[in-house]
Amino acid sequence: MRGRVYISPSLMYLPDHFQSRKRTVSFEFFPPKTPQAAGELFDAIRQLESLRPSFVSVTYGAGGSTRDVTHDLVVRLKTTTALDPIPHLTCVCHNESDIQRILERYAAAGISNILALRGDVPRDLPAGTPAWIDFRYAANLVAAIRKFNDLKRHPHPKGFGIAVAGYPEGHAETPNRMVELDHLKAKVEAGADFIITQLFFDNRDFYDFRARCELIGVRVPIIAGIMPITSVQGMKRMAELSLGSRFPAPLLRAMARAGNDPEAVRRVGVHWATEQCRDLMDHGVAGLHLYTLNRSTATQEIYNSLGVKDSEGLAY
Ligand SMILES: Cc1cc2nc3c(=O)[nH]c(=O)nc-3n(C[C@H](O)[C@H](O)[C@H](O)COP(=O)(O)OP(=O)(O)OC[C@H]3O[C@@H](n4cnc5c(N)ncnc54)[C@H](O)[C@@H]3O)c2cc1C
Repeated sequence: MRGRVYISPSLMYLPDHFQSRKRTVSFEFFPPKTPQAAGELFDAIRQLESLRPSFVSVTYGAGGSTRDVTHDLVVRLKTTTALDPIPHLTCVCHNESDIQRILERYAAAGISNILALRGDVPRDLPAGTPAWIDFRYAANLVAAIRKFNDLKRHPHPKGFGIAVAGYPEGHAETPNRMVELDHLKAKVEAGADFIITQLFFDNRDFYDFRARCELIGVRVPIIAGIMPITSVQGMKRMAELSLGSRFPAPLLRAMARAGNDPEAVRRVGVHWATEQCRDLMDHGVAGLHLYTLNRSTATQEIYNSLGVKDSEGLAY
């Protein structure tokens, strides 16, 4: 495989980017389920392209055919836009050969970084079907990607840059926060190059998490995950998807003041996220990762309020 693929000059092996001490700004998308949703996503992408993000990431579904759509969207973004896509990859319900095949396809498509995740057992998994086959935790997947890199099966001499998930407020399955951090450390020791966090709404949780990582010797860059709230319904859904996330009282008070006015709710949510970003940059955050929900308006408004035209303005 090596040498077969043309590596474009824009191919960004993210660990090198962090070496230059430049902040990343990135956006997250999910694969659309209908042609109409795909149209809306690509409308948003056209708007977001001009913001020149460092990379964009594409989530990975729970199982079955929904999983191929991540690959297809990643390749489409890579080949038809100026964006540098990073696929999310979960190891739940995958065996070793599935993972090898997926890595080979991404390497052949010139994808330079991967977000390695464990995933969760799909709710509709048929009884008797094993969820954990060759991999039990994300650390096992990281080790497999690192091995793939070491065997020089990627066209880039250093292989895939590897990101993993971090949880400033902890992961719901491990209530013991000290043990949970040991598990994060295991992912970094297995070969992860940087961390992207779960969404959070109080920056103090992020700063404390970053300090605790430093104390246990996790010294890779930590990118902050920021989700602008755009509706009350969306906020409730987020609380369900990111179990354990704390919605601070001042945010809830502002939401209550906005009452039943959807535009006021949206303004409150976007303002909150903007203030989070500003404060994080003031505190030297390595990167900002915006959960876009496949829309462009909130992200554009955040850039406008931060006083920049594109990600270059947020880089340092
Ligand atoms: C930035 C980000 C992006 C995400 N994208 C997706 C996506 O695209 N698709 C998707 O399905 N999900 C996604 N998720 C959700 C993620 O898959 C779930 O949160 C999942 O429950 C944990 O994945 P992980 O990679 O953090 O797992 P791990 O790091 O493996 O941790 C999972 C749990 O196991 C514990 N643990 C780890 N190692 C051990 C061990 N050796 N012994 C005992 N316990 C251990 C951890 O403390 C933790 O509680 C994303 C999460 C984040 C933060």
